[in-house]
Amino acid sequence: MKGKVAFIPQGHKLEFFEYDVPDPLPGGLVAEVTQTNVCGSEVHMWRGEFGRRGIMPGHEMAGRIHALGQGVTKDWAGVPVKPGDRIAPVYYTVCNRCENCVAGNHAGCVNRVMGAAHPDVPPHFTATFATHYVIKPEQHFYRIPDNVPDLIAASANCAMSQVYWALDRGRLSYGEKLLVLGAGGLGLHAMAIARERGARVIAIDGVDLRLAQARRFGADEVIDLRQYSDLKARQARVRELAGGGGPDVVLEVAGIPEAFVEAISLVRNGGRVIEVGNISGGLTAPIAPSLVTFKSIEIHGVATYPPHYLKKTLDFLTRHINRYPYLELCDARFPLSRAAEALDKSERKEVTRAALIPEQQ
Ligand SMILES: [Zn+2]
Ligand SMILES: [Zn+2]
Repeated sequence: MKGKVAFIPQGHKLEFFEYDVPDPLPGGLVAEVTQTNVCGSEVHMWRGEFGRRGIMPGHEMAGRIHALGQGVTKDWAGVPVKPGDRIAPVYYTVCNRCENCVAGNHAGCVNRVMGAAHPDVPPHFTATFATHYVIKPEQHFYRIPDNVPDLIAASANCAMSQVYWALDRGRLSYGEKLLVLGAGGLGLHAMAIARERGARVIAIDGVDLRLAQARRFGADEVIDLRQYSDLKARQARVRELAGGGGPDVVLEVAGIPEAFVEAISLVRNGGRVIEVGNISGGLTAPIAPSLVTFKSIEIHGVATYPPHYLKKTLDFLTRHINRYPYLELCDARFPLSRAAEALDKSERKEVTRAALIPEQQ
């Protein structure tokens, strides 16, 4: 059987390669991709921001087990699996041996491995803009609960798991106040999780749709950037809503350097700042380090998550799927063959979250 897998050789160009679908390795499996999403990082790839040698796009997916490798009878949580079952994989592997892994911070693994550099490298199907995806023996995957559709499960292995871990890193607990800077995908997922753990949630954004979605994803209060356009005014409003000296935890998911600086100024003395949004190298912002000193705050950087957080996320979804409008987060579907168009429309912000569906489905 043949399958296809995409490659971005340079900015604004996408090619498909075709190979025989390999057999799974003992301990691993091969999945058919049923849905993969255009995430923010694919838009960066489409712009050519990730190196000159090209890159394989796609890391968020839901799929069906095509073939199980020798010895595989259960997922990583011990749930029995068989061919045809729906699964979601973590899109990287961790080493379990480096100092971060050993300390329990697998998200900080220094030997994290993602897909190959080019589709020609066997087993070819190592990124998810593809008809198939090869899951390695050391790669975590979980059965998708029956009440969680592919459309929602496909983003569980990225944004949702990442903010779940981020809120744990920031030790957000019951009754605390969380300020979320940015009501995009990461922010909305964080609001729902924070709400369910008993926190009071305040969100800041400047786009009507995103402010409305913030409310539906659990924000108790929203602050419209257009209404509070200078920092002093925002600071006063945040204090008014959070009470006391400000929010206990600030989550930065707006993704611009200025938002990180703002997080530091808005968090209460002794509070925690979690930085997730800024991922573009080379961007800087002036900061007064004395603020960090005198406010006695903690700052946590979070990229990816420990692999078992995907299971926590899927469990969260199965319990709360009807409480939040998750289906609304994906506003466009394209066949996989039109991935370039999906990337283009995502870059031009004509769609907020595009799903790609391989044609054979
Ligand atoms: Zn993603
Ligand atoms: Zn490691």
